[in-house]
Amino acid sequence: MAVLDISHKRARPALKQGAPAVLQGRVFTQSVSGRFRRMKWQVMALCLALYYLLPFLRWDRGAGQPDQAVLFDIERIRFHFFFVELWHTDLILLTGALVLATLVLVLVNALVGRAWCGFACPQTVWSDLFMLVERRIEGDRRARLRDQGAPLTAPLLLRRSLKHWAWILIAMATGGAFVFYFTDARALLPALVTGQASLTAYIAVATLTATTYVLAGHAREQVCTWMCPWPRLQGAIWDPEALTVNYRDYRGETRASVKKAQQLREAGGAPGDCIDCNQCVAVCPMGIDIREGPNFACINCGLCVDACDGVMAKVARPRGLIDFDSWRNIERGRRGEAPRRALVRPTTIALTIAALVLSGLMIGSIATRADYQLFVSRDANPIAVRLSDGRWRNAYTVRVTNLTLEERAVTLGVSGFPGAEVALAGGAAVIDEPILLAPGQRREVRLLISGETAQRHELAITATDMDTGAVAATRDYFVIPGAD
Ligand code: SF4
Ligand code: SF4
Repeated sequence: MAVLDISHKRARPALKQGAPAVLQGRVFTQSVSGRFRRMKWQVMALCLALYYLLPFLRWDRGAGQPDQAVLFDIERIRFHFFFVELWHTDLILLTGALVLATLVLVLVNALVGRAWCGFACPQTVWSDLFMLVERRIEGDRRARLRDQGAPLTAPLLLRRSLKHWAWILIAMATGGAFVFYFTDARALLPALVTGQASLTAYIAVATLTATTYVLAGHAREQVCTWMCPWPRLQGAIWDPEALTVNYRDYRGETRASVKKAQQLREAGGAPGDCIDCNQCVAVCPMGIDIREGPNFACINCGLCVDACDGVMAKVARPRGLIDFDSWRNIERGRRGEAPRRALVRPTTIALTIAALVLSGLMIGSIATRADYQLFVSRDANPIAVRLSDGRWRNAYTVRVTNLTLEERAVTLGVSGFPGAEVALAGGAAVIDEPILLAPGQRREVRLLISGETAQRHELAITATDMDTGAVAATRDYFVIPGAD
């Protein structure tokens, strides 16, 4: 069994020679290029494009229905996602979606650790965007460090103001786009800009602007380390076979500068490949030193891999001193054994099967979902009424909901009690009178069933669509006192 001491301490190198990543509690990251950085840019561009453009995509759902492809319709308590519609009655599907999301996250964690955090989490995407703006305006890490504590000159003040205004604009665009998911985006956009939108919309935009500005501009790594529950879960779901960013200490130690390493090699020694340049620390958005061992704050973004690969290329050593590799392989490397990949293993197989089965169940449930939801509740007090002609009567409350996007008419029906008289409560209403239902409407009717009996009967209560003949059914009982 692997025993791993996951370091909970943050590396805080002093501001002196080397590459300080953290100063006065703030992380000053250095730009880096490489394959993971490129991948992160691509994921970031995709996520931002999806986030800002999705509310403007259209999806035809018929006359009188919202045509926004993705819409949380709060007024009618419906969620539209292209051809899928989730209603307030679909709590079980929403629960399934949450369980599925958890399963997929745990599966991803078992395969590639916190890769979601490092590449696609909104906190990472927006922090990356804010850091890009910061670098473009204030310069790279060295320039920003130089500005720290420097006298506040006019150019410096201008740069800082520009940066914060740019952040605020991005944050406003983020908050603005968020509210588009809750109402018709094409109508809300001009209303927002011209001051015609509702106060609620402006409050929502202001709140999201403030949170985006604070979380992506100022809190960044603090969110990933202290506010997000994922690092807390790491201890429980950490998988030694997952491909996570690790330092191959068996190859990197003992560290020596390029010159010293050269001398050692010439003298027949075997110095490690790490030249202690601290580039891996300087680029880390979390301000940690991965060479100290797995760290619960590491988001597996791969930037230290890019930085170290660049250094290795310069000193003519093989890449991969820091790399995505399993902890088991690090242990194998220490023992001089060959590495092994074990992505297909019982845990990942079980999680994949569970996720596929749950997805299948959810798709099946959506595809076969009834057009109506029918709830019946029998009066409990009194459980039955004795009529003057000696028959018994039970009363039921029937709630029928139209789960389609069209107006529908249904009739109720009852079977299972031969000879019973069935009527809707109230005046001359009879059982086969159509009940009109607008899209999404729920109506409640009182159903009275009377009959002569000395025993209880199991009933089937149905709602039948007058146009399509679709039937929703539920079961209940006709009861009389003293009869089981
Ligand atoms: S970037 Fe590579 S060589 Fe430089 S300190 Fe980090 S691990 Fe060592
Ligand atoms: S240690 Fe490397 S992979 Fe982990 S957060 Fe820092 S840069 Fe990203």
